[in-house]
Amino acid sequence: MSTFQDLGLNDELLQGITDLGFEKPSEVQEKAIPILLNEETDLVALAQTGTGKTAAFGFPMLQKIDVNSRTTQGLILSPTRELCLQIANEMKAYGKYCKGLNVVAIYGGSSITDQAREVKRGAQIIVATPGRMKDMINRKLVDITKIQYSVLDEADEMLNMGFKEDITDILSGTPEDKNTWLFSATMPKEVARIAKKFMLDPKEITVGHKNESTSNVTHEYYLVNARDRYQALKRLADANPDIFSVIFCRTKRDTQKVAENLIEDGYSAGALHGDLSQNQRDIVMKQFRTRQIQMLVATDVAARGIDVDDITHVINYQLSDEVETYTHRSGRTGRAGKTGVSMVIVSKSEIRRLKSIERIINKKFELKEIPNGMEICEVQLMSLANKIHNTEINHEIDKYLEDINGLFEETTKEELIKKFFSVEFTRFFNYYQKAKNLNVTASSNDRESGRSSNSNDTRYFINVGEKDGFDWMKLKDFLKEILELGRDDVFKVDVKDSFSFFNTEKEHQEKILAFFTDYKHEGRFVNVEVSENRGGGGRSRGGRRRDGGNDRRRGGSDRPRGERRSSGRRNDSGGDSRRSERRSSEGSSRRSESRDKSEFKTTHSRPRRSRR
Ligand code: ADP
Ligand code: MG
Repeated sequence: MSTFQDLGLNDELLQGITDLGFEKPSEVQEKAIPILLNEETDLVALAQTGTGKTAAFGFPMLQKIDVNSRTTQGLILSPTRELCLQIANEMKAYGKYCKGLNVVAIYGGSSITDQAREVKRGAQIIVATPGRMKDMINRKLVDITKIQYSVLDEADEMLNMGFKEDITDILSGTPEDKNTWLFSATMPKEVARIAKKFMLDPKEITVGHKNESTSNVTHEYYLVNARDRYQALKRLADANPDIFSVIFCRTKRDTQKVAENLIEDGYSAGALHGDLSQNQRDIVMKQFRTRQIQMLVATDVAARGIDVDDITHVINYQLSDEVETYTHRSGRTGRAGKTGVSMVIVSKSEIRRLKSIERIINKKFELKEIPNGMEICEVQLMSLANKIHNTEINHEIDKYLEDINGLFEETTKEELIKKFFSVEFTRFFNYYQKAKNLNVTASSNDRESGRSSNSNDTRYFINVGEKDGFDWMKLKDFLKEILELGRDDVFKVDVKDSFSFFNTEKEHQEKILAFFTDYKHEGRFVNVEVSENRGGGGRSRGGRRRDGGNDRRRGGSDRPRGERRSSGRRNDSGGDSRRSERRSSEGSSRRSESRDKSEFKTTHSRPRRSRR
C-alpha cells in the first residue's frame, strides 16, 4: 500500500493533502496518479462514484501545470453545475499551497460576464459544463487553444445528458497534442466512441467491473390502454412502497399535470420542467435529494441536471419521440453499482417503438403485468409489517400505555396483530377490490374478448382458499350446499392460497352475489365478486394466464363489481405541515406511508454518495 508521497506528488500538494486529512490514496488514485505524473499519455479510467476520481486527475494536473503562467492549460468538463462547482472547490483545496494557482468554474445559470472576468485574470485551470463552455468559446471569452490537459469527468453522464456534440465541438478547438483523461463510472458504447475519436492509444485503468451500472438496470414494459396510463402509474407506485423514482413525460404540460394529480392523490411527488423558475427547480431538486419527494415527474430536458444516486425506478410514462432518449432516461437508475428498474407504460400502438429501443440498448424488454389489487394489498401489508418491525419505540407513549393496555386486556396478541393490520389493509383492500384489470393483451385480444362476452358463464372471486382448508372439491361441495345449487352448477373451481375462483351459469349470478353480502364462514365474512375473467380457467387472455400461473399475481384482481365504499379517511398527519393534505382517492391509502419521512429513512436508508 503506497502513500501519496510514494506516488510522486510534490511538497505543496502533500501539504494540501495533509490539511484535507487524506491518509492514503484510493485505488483509482493509486493507479492513475503515477501514470499521469510520469507519462504524457491519454487515459481512460473507469471507477464508480465516490472512489476519489477528482483527486486522481486533480493532483497530476495541479503538479503539471505552470502556475507562473496565466495561460489556460487545463480544462475539466463535467456534466452539471453542481459537480462543476464541487470539482473547482476540490481543486482549490488540493492546490491551497500552489502559489499563483487560479481555478475558475464556468457553468450555466450564473453571470457569464462575471465568469469571463475571472477567466481573464488568468485561469490556469477551467472547470466547465459543456453548454456554457461552448457558449464562451463562441463569444471568444475563453482561449483553450493552448490546453495541455483535458479531462472528461463523468463522461458517461455527459453523454447521457446529450452533451456529445458540445464536447466534440469544444475538443476540436484544442491542440492535437494535448493529453485527454477520461473518467467514467461506466463504459457504454458512446463513451468508447468518444474515447476512440479524441484519444490516442490511451492507457486504461479499471477499478471494479466495467459497465457495472448498465447491467444493473432491468427493462420492463406494461401494456395498457392509453386512457389507463395514469391508473397504471399509480399501481406501479403502490406496488413499490419504497419507490424513489423519476417519471418521464413528453411535454411540460403533461409533466405538470401528472405531478399535480399524484400530489392530489396523496403521493409525495413533484414536477421538474422548463416552465418553472430556476428557484422553483432548485427547491424541487432539493426535496427530491432529501427524499421529501419520492416521485419526481420530469421532462427530458429538465432531468438533465439530475445527479441523484439511488433512484430505484425510472418510469417512462410516455415514450419520447426520439429513441435515443430512452438510454438517457434509464441511465438515471442503476448508478453506483446499485440495481435499478426502467419501466415503460405503453399502449398497443407504441409497442413497435420498443423494438427500436431494444436495438439501441442491446437488451430485451420484459413484458410485465400491472399488479392486480390483491398483489398490491399484499405488498403494502408486508411493507407495513417490516416497517413496524424496524420501528424504534417512542417512549413518549409510555404514559398512555396503561389505558391502552386496559382496552386490550381481553385481546390476544394474535387478535391484536390482526386488528392492527386490518386498519391499513382494509383501506387498500376496499379500494383495490373495485379496481379493474388494466392489462391489455398484445395479440388476439379482440377474438378473446369477443368470446368471453358471448360466454354464458360468470366467473367469481371468493376470498377463501387453501388456507381455509379448501381444495377444489371441498369448495365446490361447500358452494353447492350453501347456495342450494345442482350437481354441475358450480364448475371451473380454482383454489389458491388465500382466495379462489369458480364459475356458474350467468342465471345464478344475482342470487349468488346477494347471498354473499353478509355470509360468514368460521366467523369471517366471505366475500364473493364477479371476476373480469369470465372465460374462466385463466386462459382467456391470449394465452397469458390471468388467474393462473404465478400465485401472487392471480388475484380476483380487478374486480369491477362491488358496492362503493369510502376509500379512506382524510389525512390526519397533523405533524407534517410541509406536506399538502392528502385526499381520499386511490392514493389515499398511502398516507401513513409517507407521513413520516424519518421513519422511512431509518427503515430504508439508502447510502448517499459522499461529497463534501
Ligand atoms: P468520484 O469523483 O469518484 O465520485 P470524488 O473525487 O468526488 O469521487 O471523491 C469522493 C469523496 O472522497 C470526496 O469527499 C473526496 O474529498 C474524498 N476523497 C478522495 N480521495 C480521498 C482519499 N484518498 N482519502 C480520503 N478521502 C478522499
Ligand atoms: Mg467525480
